[in-house]
Amino acid sequence: MTPDYLKHNWLHKKLLLRDLSKASKYANGLLLDIGCGHKPYLEIFSPLVSGYVGLDHSDTQSNSAVVDLYADVLKLPFQGEVFGTVLCSQVLEHLPEPWHALAEANRVLQPGGHLILSAPHIWNVHEAPDDYYRFTRYGLEYLLKMNGFEVVELMAQGGYFATASQRFSYYLHNHHRRNFISRRTTPFICALVQRVGLALDNIRTFEDETQNYVIVGRKLGKDTLPASRSGHDKEENRDSIDLVSIMSCPACGGSLVSTENTLECAQGNHSYHLVEGIPRMETEITARATETPNPQRRVEP
Ligand SMILES: [Zn+2]
Repeated sequence: MTPDYLKHNWLHKKLLLRDLSKASKYANGLLLDIGCGHKPYLEIFSPLVSGYVGLDHSDTQSNSAVVDLYADVLKLPFQGEVFGTVLCSQVLEHLPEPWHALAEANRVLQPGGHLILSAPHIWNVHEAPDDYYRFTRYGLEYLLKMNGFEVVELMAQGGYFATASQRFSYYLHNHHRRNFISRRTTPFICALVQRVGLALDNIRTFEDETQNYVIVGRKLGKDTLPASRSGHDKEENRDSIDLVSIMSCPACGGSLVSTENTLECAQGNHSYHLVEGIPRMETEITARATETPNPQRRVEP
């Protein structure tokens, strides 16, 4: 297995981690990580927030052990204004209508809460065909402003030399490992190329040709979040989030109650699976029609 420092994407990860760490000063309250995957940023944010909720879609390849619930990012199964922070890293380009996701992020944030978002600017097509967009800084700023945020910070993950060396490194990794010798040497060439790129980028950065952006938006409105961000006073609250109490039915917006294997909305019209304790809010259980009719419940179409 290739160690991290020899990986073809070392520079991208290093710069993204650098800037998400800088953005973590805005984290507060309860954090929602949209498209959390393996929660690679848990260590950065977890000490700063009162709780960390990871959401992903159910056909993700991520290990379900770390995902807290599966749901559609365009219909977040949460009540309004329950999170202090929404983190959304490298997800936006995969959504056909990313503005709806930002509107949802805004809805679930408390006024004064922050959206910490990252998205690619110059990058190859990946996870095809679910790869729809690349974003300039102006596009990102526009999308945030259109969805109830003021932009508080924008950071480019390097400039031309970082991008060029990163792209060349990907090219070598993807297309130049045909035989034993090239497979063994490519990681070292990739490592060298990326370090030269980073060194040149540190001398002169042309940010208009950056590979990626991190942007932070603050939800407009009167800030009701606690000021403290020390993390130490949050220790006792960690891992004790009652997820169901802040959730809502994605179909009707009603409050949810949990049974042994399902979550049901209070009206009883919608029901969702829990698989190994993890709610799956994407697919409503459709077996209801075959159950014994319950006169107390009127099933809406
Ligand atoms: Zn419902």
